[in-house]
Amino acid sequence: MRKAGSDVLIIGGGLQGCSIALFLARAGWQVTVVEKNLAGRHASGVNAGGLRSLMRDVREYPLSLRAMDMWANLADFVGDAAAEACEVRLETSQIALAMDTAELQWCEARSQDMRRRGIQSEELIAPAELHRLLPGLASSALGGLISRRDGHANPANAARAFRKAAEAARVRVLEGCTLHDLAPRPAGGWRADTDAGRIEADWVINCAGAWGSDVAARLGETLPIKVTALSMMVTARVKPFIAPVVIGIDKPLSFKQSAVGSLVIGGGILGKPCLNEDTSFTIMDRMASSAAATVAAFPVLAGVPVVRTWTGLEGATPDGIPFIGPSRRHAGLWHVFGFCGHGFQLAPAVGEAVAQSLASGDLDPRLAPFAVDRLPPQQSRKDEASP
Ligand SMILES: Cc1cc2nc3c(=O)[nH]c(=O)nc-3n(C[C@H](O)[C@H](O)[C@H](O)COP(=O)(O)OP(=O)(O)OC[C@H]3O[C@@H](n4cnc5c(N)ncnc54)[C@H](O)[C@@H]3O)c2cc1C
Repeated sequence: MRKAGSDVLIIGGGLQGCSIALFLARAGWQVTVVEKNLAGRHASGVNAGGLRSLMRDVREYPLSLRAMDMWANLADFVGDAAAEACEVRLETSQIALAMDTAELQWCEARSQDMRRRGIQSEELIAPAELHRLLPGLASSALGGLISRRDGHANPANAARAFRKAAEAARVRVLEGCTLHDLAPRPAGGWRADTDAGRIEADWVINCAGAWGSDVAARLGETLPIKVTALSMMVTARVKPFIAPVVIGIDKPLSFKQSAVGSLVIGGGILGKPCLNEDTSFTIMDRMASSAAATVAAFPVLAGVPVVRTWTGLEGATPDGIPFIGPSRRHAGLWHVFGFCGHGFQLAPAVGEAVAQSLASGDLDPRLAPFAVDRLPPQQSRKDEASP
């Protein structure tokens, strides 16, 4: 075991940064988090709150299943009151809709593949049950996949809960504190120049989200992500009619009904990212395609008013899974970013696995698929050049 009490500097106070900080601090490490904005201000606080194992990349399953157990027992990690505020609702299901025969065939093939791999959480859903669970669904819907344990939570409160739990474990969270420069010390460890002055640390963890590639590039490491502005819209309240989260297969469809009745609609619609200005915007015509997919699946929703839209900045890697692991160039540096629109669900397990890896000196095997040098150099260069 490495000596507890080693200093760790975490760049980024999103859910990943705060979750790693929490587990490291509980293991006895002294941790500082620097956050250029407010902790949870970016993707971690503005996401759709989906707790989904359905249709995950199979490389993420071990981590995702552990994360689901942790969400189910959240009070053990953040305390009773904070867990209550996170409004975790599991076992409401997530359902992927097959709206045509090509999508149905894809579901059948996926289901067989999951069974072959011994993954039990995802099953085919027959049309009768589908229409019973989703009243108002178009009669043309043919079936789909269901993950019955999945659900959702309140993202802003979850980001706050992990941050507060980390602070209670003596993590120092410095908000409004940008990391400007980072350099290895000759004798090992790191020297960071920040708005709060110089911070020395034995370890640095780059949890800078959509800015993660920039931080890596400053240290001479090419870890390409495409910066995206995932877009959401919210409707006026309608009578509660649906409990599961519904997602599309090839269509830009993803929505759930909130406790007060409004529909929260996403589906991977991309807005305009403005990384340097710390913001992003929805784009009108692109939102229309998400609305059209929603109404095609649920014709009863035609005419429901949209009351607002929002976006959040997220990094997407070329192969759709995050970078989580030690730098191949510098000792004492880890990268944890590029969650491709599905890192909220993974965050508790990421925190636990990264902290355990640092403490033991052995990489948690669940993190092996996310090695930062897994991409062929050619692919890295090509994707880096794309906007
Ligand atoms: C609209 C939207 C919907 C989503 N829906 C879901 C969903 O339903 N389910 C799901 O599982 N996932 C979802 N996600 C993805 C999920 O939100 C992210 O994968 C996750 O929050 C990433 O967490 P993070 O801590 O890596 O990033 P962030 O929350 O972006 O945190 C990174 C932080 O680093 C800070 N930072 C960057 N550079 C510096 C610097 N130089 N100095 C100091 N601080 C710095 C930033 O200010 C930022 O706060 C969604 C994302 C979006 C945008």
